[in-house]
Amino acid sequence: MKKTASADIVIFGGGIAGLWLLNRLRQSGLSVILLESGYLGGGQTHKAQGIIHGGMKYVLQGTFTRDAYAMQEMPHIWKQCLQGKGEIDLSHVPILSAQHYLWSQHKFTSKLAGLFANLALTNKVESLSKENYPTVFQHPAFKGEVFSLDEMVIDVTLLIRELVKVNQDVIFKIEPLCGEELTCDDQGHLVSATVYMAGKSIEITAQHFVFTAGVGNEIIIHKLKSQEVAMQRRPLHMVLVKTPFDYPLYAHCLGFGPRPRMTITTHRTQDGSTIWYVGGQLAEDGVTRDTQAQIKAAREELKALFPWLDFSEAVFATLMIDRAEPWQKNGIKPETSFIKTIHNITIAWPTKLALAPKLAQDILEDIQAMHLQPKIFDTRELRSWPIPPLARPIWEDAFCKNVA
Ligand SMILES: Cc1cc2nc3c(=O)[nH]c(=O)nc-3n(C[C@H](O)[C@H](O)[C@H](O)COP(=O)(O)OP(=O)(O)OC[C@H]3O[C@@H](n4cnc5c(N)ncnc54)[C@H](O)[C@@H]3O)c2cc1C
Repeated sequence: MKKTASADIVIFGGGIAGLWLLNRLRQSGLSVILLESGYLGGGQTHKAQGIIHGGMKYVLQGTFTRDAYAMQEMPHIWKQCLQGKGEIDLSHVPILSAQHYLWSQHKFTSKLAGLFANLALTNKVESLSKENYPTVFQHPAFKGEVFSLDEMVIDVTLLIRELVKVNQDVIFKIEPLCGEELTCDDQGHLVSATVYMAGKSIEITAQHFVFTAGVGNEIIIHKLKSQEVAMQRRPLHMVLVKTPFDYPLYAHCLGFGPRPRMTITTHRTQDGSTIWYVGGQLAEDGVTRDTQAQIKAAREELKALFPWLDFSEAVFATLMIDRAEPWQKNGIKPETSFIKTIHNITIAWPTKLALAPKLAQDILEDIQAMHLQPKIFDTRELRSWPIPPLARPIWEDAFCKNVA
């Protein structure tokens, strides 16, 4: 006999978007199952730098865009959660840095100073005196300027662990899905999903299905053949540096273009090494370079930006990752999070880790407007199914491969 399970809502994908949503939906009294085909947090989420953007980065583009408006509420929402007073209790998630910094190699231009002065975000930017600079910039050779931004950096690995902790009874590992396993009726409603694990299969039914599967959302998009939603991938070639020194740094470097020349966050491996995780323009431009060329470019950039530091003993690694986002004309960066509901299917991308609370709120409101009545919740057949493993921090893995 066919084995079955059912819930009000089924979520595909256990990255930040799916896990935040799972917590919110369960609070609302609906029954939910989350299905993950890889590692929890193992897609884009555990490769994120953990910056809770409040929109300041976009000010660098010279205008106060919709990005900045959408994001300016985010640090407050996260702060509440991290203090145990918000919509989800994240009081056990470590804050790696209470603020992010913005530095330039030279004194800030009057154009930028004027821009800051005119912005609604001005009170979120603070010009620092030298004694308050991050230690690495307190060197006499540093001739630039440093600002502090009201944007935290958090430990993403432990964030995922906290979001999973109270939901282990409804999170299940599945084998990668294909479109044929999703059964739609003639009107395009998703009736059921047949999922597989270790030779077993279960047909899962729900009133509503949510896809927060990152690049995996492509499966449902192809299945629906809908013109209303499409996905784009924007690649990055990130760099990890195991530094021979211990300077914790969380900062964007202001370049000449609209994007930070470099964005650095600092992480520690279990054996106590200090890792600089480097993105920004270096990672954007690096997508056309192979590993060795990207490491060479990173060494040159770091030498140019920190001439007083010796990177000769540093160990470098790189990783390529696609950001999965709603399709935009000319492949540009989307301005905010995205949801599209077609019949009983919602397809969603947060586009930023920081926007996960907004995305979850938007989906929750969408679902509440459907006035679903709680129906039978039955996970008995799933009880013997494994819970997906948590993703390991990338710096723990990185130095086993792509090492130079
Ligand atoms: C290098 C990098 C740095 C970043 N830094 C930041 C930052 O500092 N701050 C910030 O706000 N944002 C940052 N971002 C953006 C942020 O990481 C992403 O927007 C966010 O993590 C996307 O989360 P998600 O849950 O939608 O997707 P993902 O994290 O990709 O999760 C999708 C999950 O779905 C699973 N899955 C796929 N297919 C299926 C399927 N068929 N069935 C079940 N499960 C499936 C995958 O295994 C995965 O676990 C960064 C992104 C990158 C790439």
